[in-house]
Amino acid sequence: MSRVPRIVVIGSANVDLTVFTDHFPRPGETIFGSRFDLGFGGKGANQAVAARRCGAEVAMVARVGDDLFGPATLRNFEALGIDASHVRVTSGCSTGVAPILVDSDGQNRIIVVKGANDQLAPADVDAAESVIAGVDLLILQLEVPLDTVYYAVEFARARAIRCILNPAPGQPLDLARLAHVDYLVPNETEAELITGLPVHTIDDAAGCAGRVREAGIGRVIVTLGARGALLAGPDGAEHVPAVAVETIDSTGAGDAFIGSFATFLAEGLDEVEAIRRANLYAALSTTKVGTQKSFPARVAFEEARRALA
Ligand code: ADP
Repeated sequence: MSRVPRIVVIGSANVDLTVFTDHFPRPGETIFGSRFDLGFGGKGANQAVAARRCGAEVAMVARVGDDLFGPATLRNFEALGIDASHVRVTSGCSTGVAPILVDSDGQNRIIVVKGANDQLAPADVDAAESVIAGVDLLILQLEVPLDTVYYAVEFARARAIRCILNPAPGQPLDLARLAHVDYLVPNETEAELITGLPVHTIDDAAGCAGRVREAGIGRVIVTLGARGALLAGPDGAEHVPAVAVETIDSTGAGDAFIGSFATFLAEGLDEVEAIRRANLYAALSTTKVGTQKSFPARVAFEEARRALA
């Protein structure tokens, strides 16, 4: 490893409130749940944590509410060594939350309340200029207002900072306004939503990535779950297979992939090798329950990599 990469994530921070129950309550019914789990989440925060666990110096630009969860989220960032000096507490607003009900069959019902994430504005990006200037990579997703995402892409371009956009949750996008994104990294569903083309096979993913490239985005990586990832760039398309593991819970695999890919790329690896390693990092995250809790530390990742060699 050459040097410690510096990464900024502009995105969401949520608190996941997971309730486990035998069955879902009917309208008007109150029932006892069997277990409760509180976890820090949000795609932005998850990707920041993955990059940090991989060894990058990470700063987060986000908004939390002035409720119980706001200070707790800040403390979680600080405990992980993530610079949260540009995570702003927003008055009169809740932190982003995701109440999740899980029944005995493992089915879930989720309601996401965006709360303070919806207040993250272009002015927050400007206010964080001192931490963004000079970083190796900027990571963005779509759980904050789209105008802020478009603004951040331009902000990065003007400062020659490489930029990765994970277009999640999937939604139609103005690709012309994203032409300066260096890597667009959708999963299969998101790729379908952006292009309107179905993605069932690896060839479909290549066709879909080609369509995005025609719209002006230089490099596209479609993550393909247990099939790995497909890179499409100026030199053509390349499928990078996944690493076979015993998957228990794949929640957050995409976030593990993006945070680790960003770190490996910023360390100076070529993109195919960075994807190979991100495939392993994300695969390892699926062998444990949870999202941030399932992201391995760099030491454990390197041990797994040696074991595979
Ligand atoms: P998302 O979590 O956004 O839906 P994917 O399901 O495409 O994203 O997973 C992201 C990455 O995680 C994949 O590209 C792959 O590297 C890894 N991954 C996901 N599921 C598995 C699995 N069952 N086995 C091995 N690797 C996996």
